[in-house]
Amino acid sequence: MTLPGLDAAGEMSARIRRHDWAATSAGPIESWPTSLRTTVGTMLNTRYPMLLFWGPDLICFYNDAFRPSLGAEMHPGALGGAGREVWSEVWEFTGPQVEAVMTQGANTGFDDQLVPFDRNGYYEEIYFTYSYSPVYAEDGTVGGTLVVCNETTTQVISERRMTTLQGLATAADPHDHDPNGAAAGRDLLAALVTSDADIPFALLYDVSPEQGEAALIGTVGIAAGSVDAPWVLDLRPEAPAMPWSDAVRAVAERRRPFEIHDLHQRWAPLPGGAWPESPREAVAAPVGGSAHAHSFVLITAVSARKRLNAAYRRFLGLTSDQFSAAVARAVRRHQESERAERLAELDRAKTAFLSTVSHELRTPLTLVLGPLQNLLEQPDTAGSPEVQSAYRNARRLLRLVNTLLDFSRIEAGRMAFRPRPTDVAALTRDCASLFTSLAAARGLELRVDCAEPVLAEIDRDMWEKIVLNVVSNAVKYTRHGHVGVRVEHRDGSAVLVVSDSGIGIPSDEVPLIFDRFHRTLSDLTPSVEGTGLGLALVRELATIHDGTAVVHSTPGVGSTFVVSVPALDPADDVMLPEPLDNGHAIDVDALFDDAAASNGNGAEAASGGAARVLVVDDNRDMREFLARALAPLAEVDLAEDGRDALIRARRQSPDLIVSDVMMPVIDGVGLLAALRAEPELAEVPVILLSARADHESLIAGLDAGAADFLAKPFSTGELRSRVRTNLAAVQLRKARAADAAEALRRREQQALELNDRIVQGMIVARMALDAGQLETVVSALDSSIKGASTIITELLGDPAGLLRSTPADLEMNP
Ligand code: ADP
Repeated sequence: MTLPGLDAAGEMSARIRRHDWAATSAGPIESWPTSLRTTVGTMLNTRYPMLLFWGPDLICFYNDAFRPSLGAEMHPGALGGAGREVWSEVWEFTGPQVEAVMTQGANTGFDDQLVPFDRNGYYEEIYFTYSYSPVYAEDGTVGGTLVVCNETTTQVISERRMTTLQGLATAADPHDHDPNGAAAGRDLLAALVTSDADIPFALLYDVSPEQGEAALIGTVGIAAGSVDAPWVLDLRPEAPAMPWSDAVRAVAERRRPFEIHDLHQRWAPLPGGAWPESPREAVAAPVGGSAHAHSFVLITAVSARKRLNAAYRRFLGLTSDQFSAAVARAVRRHQESERAERLAELDRAKTAFLSTVSHELRTPLTLVLGPLQNLLEQPDTAGSPEVQSAYRNARRLLRLVNTLLDFSRIEAGRMAFRPRPTDVAALTRDCASLFTSLAAARGLELRVDCAEPVLAEIDRDMWEKIVLNVVSNAVKYTRHGHVGVRVEHRDGSAVLVVSDSGIGIPSDEVPLIFDRFHRTLSDLTPSVEGTGLGLALVRELATIHDGTAVVHSTPGVGSTFVVSVPALDPADDVMLPEPLDNGHAIDVDALFDDAAASNGNGAEAASGGAARVLVVDDNRDMREFLARALAPLAEVDLAEDGRDALIRARRQSPDLIVSDVMMPVIDGVGLLAALRAEPELAEVPVILLSARADHESLIAGLDAGAADFLAKPFSTGELRSRVRTNLAAVQLRKARAADAAEALRRREQQALELNDRIVQGMIVARMALDAGQLETVVSALDSSIKGASTIITELLGDPAGLLRSTPADLEMNP
């Protein structure tokens, strides 16, 4: 008999034809209603997996495409079986769906449903997308349920694994200290906690082959330190076997993944992650590239509900690759930060070195500059080109040293920034005015336009450096024409504009002009000496003020330098805390290497006669230089340190002490303290000399009671003028003291005289009284009182003239 539709090719078609349907409630095939036959025929002729439940017993029919979903265990037994029995494992949720179709004709279904069943000898993680549809019998009732389904296991699981891998790619947090990447490894383990369907548990070991052991870095899904995850694995061949030790040893040696397939036979049940069953398999894989000094081993358990197939191996391989990448990144980051730290350390050392060297250079520079200045002041050597050149170059060196010192301070963050509300225009005007004579000498017109106050919070010392550098450049690089200095308030900024009609700067040099040690080397540039540090310092100082420094320039026409710093709002009522201090000792000449070196301070004869100055310095050259410099002013005695000075001072009572600060035994500040403690010497003024030109040492010195403070290097003229001033003060004090002593002596004399007069008068009066000569008594008393009152008047003054009226003057009648 022909069975249309049931004669299709294929295994299930043949099985259905052969099956003994008479033994089932479906009845012999010939008796099947058309609806059943048609549906089975359709099923056998489609490539979609289909399953039919027919009749009250829900007899099962399925096609070739459905067969793989049944695995080896259920096929072919499922054919012709009753639905409830065949699918007993999943009937719990399949049953209600089928019942709804059979009784109500409902059309239901669901996507990616987990339907775990044992089709290959173990419970497997399987996903289906189903649709349940009614098949109507001839009488219009629902005769069966057609299940069209699609297994989506591969899709569901690969999406899940993809999510795991993506999560691992970003799981490692940056750690401050992660030299071997262990912390990164722990981060990735922690990220695996949501991936327990694919990786029920994982362990990460750090292998040290030389010690023959591996240390546990971390775990997920299994307790670290438990029997199944020992803290330390003994890897020596002779050591008793421990969980994982074989696998870890094998991976450490071969640097290749190692699979364990018999976990369930070797140990008690292990944690199954998302599944109740203990994993049967695990994979151990190397972590960290071959360049990685440490070798880590990652052990990942394989889900009990999946075969370790190629896709699973690939997934676990990619997982360990993510660990390797994260560990390598961490190690690299650690190495980079160590390198950065080493560089910073080197930088600090360099800055400290620069700063020390600069300090140290200042003392010998003083020793060079002082005598050179003396030579320049002496008629026979003043004109010598050698002396002038030596002096010029020593000053250039000094300028370089000072700028380097500024840089080292900025780099070390030690450049004290003391912003104060300031009239920038006025300060700039003061600084610019220092260039008046220099500009005139060079035939340049200096136009200063700083009349309108412009207020800003600036550090005055720094601003002076900015102005001096930019203006001195303008003067230096301009041969004819003018140099303009202007300060204005523009868009919330205090803006310094220094323009010149000088040589200009080639456009390709403009971007480099503020770099350290950059000097333009064009044909235009005259052979002007410079360091290439000035503008770099200007920009650093502007930056410290949250400001900018830029230049616009046209070669052959001129340049305009613009330095802007945030201004204070002119509408704000800003109190300028103190008037501008014009006492800053700016040596404009020192900015100019080719400036005529002269400050007109010839050696003058000492005004204080035989004043005695005690010079204290541990450096012999410095002592001798000071002695020479001060010889015209005073008798100079020399001491080598604070203690020596104290001994000499006690012996000679100097009028003034000039002392270095840094000395062995007792330093300058210690000497000051010792002097102040001795009544005889407490008043002796002390001038401190220090190589540290910074504010702090100045304050420390003055706090300790120094009369004055000179920062090295100083010029002979400067030294002499300070010494002269202090000696003059001493002379004045001495003169005043002498006057006071004289006045005191006179008063004592007068008081004695007064006493004598009164006593004499009393004696005469007593004798006259005894002789009964009353007139004589009166006259003796009168003369005694007159004498006394004259003295008292002299002593105290007598504006009312009362003392001058004696009883005799009042015509006393006896
Ligand atoms: P220095 O003047 O000591 O060489 P600076 O850092 O002050 O160092 O200046 C860097 C370079 O910029 C100078 O060598 C000079 O070539 C160029 N320069 C600076 N100011 C001017 C200016 N006003 N006109 C032309 N060139 C200038």
